[in-house]
Amino acid sequence: MQAVRLVSFCGLPWRLTRSVFRDLAIVMTGFGLLVGLVFPYAVHWMGAPAGLVLHWRFHLDCLAAGLAVGGVNVLIANGVVRARMRLLAARLEEVRATLERIQQEGDLCGCDPEHCFLPVDSDDELGRTSESFNLMAAALGDALHTTAAVRRLTERLVEQLRIDEMARTALDEMLEHTLSAGGAVLLARDGQLELAASRGLCDPASLAAHPAVVRVLEEQGSARLEVPGGILLDRVLAHFPPRSVLLEAVRHHGKALGVLLLASDRPYTEEEIRRFRLLSRPLALAFHNALAYAELEKVAALDGLTGCYNRRFGLARLREEFARARRMDAPLAVVVFDLDHFKAINDTWGHLAGDRVLVWAARQARLVMRQGDVLVRYGGEEFLAVLPFAGEEEACEAAERIRAAVAASPVPNGRGSIPVTLSAGVAAWPQSAVESELELVDLADSALYFAKRGGRNRVVCRSALPGLDASRQAAARPQPAR
Ligand code: GH3
Ligand code: MG
Ligand code: MG
Repeated sequence: MQAVRLVSFCGLPWRLTRSVFRDLAIVMTGFGLLVGLVFPYAVHWMGAPAGLVLHWRFHLDCLAAGLAVGGVNVLIANGVVRARMRLLAARLEEVRATLERIQQEGDLCGCDPEHCFLPVDSDDELGRTSESFNLMAAALGDALHTTAAVRRLTERLVEQLRIDEMARTALDEMLEHTLSAGGAVLLARDGQLELAASRGLCDPASLAAHPAVVRVLEEQGSARLEVPGGILLDRVLAHFPPRSVLLEAVRHHGKALGVLLLASDRPYTEEEIRRFRLLSRPLALAFHNALAYAELEKVAALDGLTGCYNRRFGLARLREEFARARRMDAPLAVVVFDLDHFKAINDTWGHLAGDRVLVWAARQARLVMRQGDVLVRYGGEEFLAVLPFAGEEEACEAAERIRAAVAASPVPNGRGSIPVTLSAGVAAWPQSAVESELELVDLADSALYFAKRGGRNRVVCRSALPGLDASRQAAARPQPAR
């Protein structure tokens, strides 16, 4: 224990020991003894006979009475104030332990009121202390709750690079921590807002054109709308407008990457709004990375000259489509086509003109292909078209459309134009009972071989060549050019 200090500091009361209650006990019993000491003289001064009140026995009685009053005061102070202060100390310890747990384990259940808060049952300093303590504990709990939620979201975001997954993760976390009924994540790609994820909203795709969403994106700001028009919560039995909507632009280095939207059927509290803003911060960097990754993936997947899938990604895509076709028992066709006498085009018109021919041919082919079909630059002037859900007959028609489109539009070159034709081979699963996608390409390739041998500028379908597998030398009946 420290030495007794009889100092007054910054207006605080005198201190005798390291314990306020011990100080109180010393002062109270000391004061009781002092009163017991002076009491006989006071009553003598007031007229009591000296023989009675200045007797040693009366002195002893007064001292004992003073001591007893001081002791009882100490007991009362302990019972009334110390018990309350003990409770305050216990609750503080509880709050400290809970906050530590939240910080270490991300345990977001927070403080349970029975253990963390103090009863406020008086209007004095103790009541106000309890009230302030409760507010402080709640604010601290909220702050740590938010910090833990932001940390958890950041950890989950860094594990993902795909925008859609990331948007769904972020939206779910925000809905949970703001108790929202619905929400959406919209991302700006190529100057257009696109829906990346949504929950609990009717027609979320229309949000991209909502004036408030567009304004928040343009101003890179935030907004809070009370009973907004044009937004509806999707409930099991009915759709109804939300009571409150929060909007926040996702910014990275001064660029708006998208807009977050949360909707609730009750007004948001200030804490929920603060939490929403804090949770939206780690999203900016995560979305920036995911968008950059998607761009990189696109660059890695595409052929730099023609913009078609390159061979590596094209074959990976074909593998996926073949597996899907087998799983769903749906047909899948491939067309392999090759520009005719392309070497001669290069030799006659030059290599750069040859490049332009490749770009032109790919563009013509894409123009007549169905949405969902995939065009791959398979080799120099050889292309592979993957046609999901197409049988051989349908694929032969598609190949013929490609052949005709290319043959019908010579490539503009200076004041003249370069005539271009192509030959194509077609094969389809399950008409051709192949076991792998590469076998299917091989069959189309052998049909292409016969198209070349048959005079070029034509389409040959695999089923038109019975016995082809036995030998390529077998007689072939190439389709005449239409
Ligand atoms: P066939 O009708 O039998 O297909 O004859 P071909 O001349 O088209 O075929 P060949 O395989 O003899 O020649 C293909 C040519 O395509 C040779 C090659 O220099 C050229 N080539 C390949 N890739 C490119 C490219 O990216 N740009 C240009 N300009 N030429 C290319
Ligand atoms: Mg060729
Ligand atoms: Mg070739």
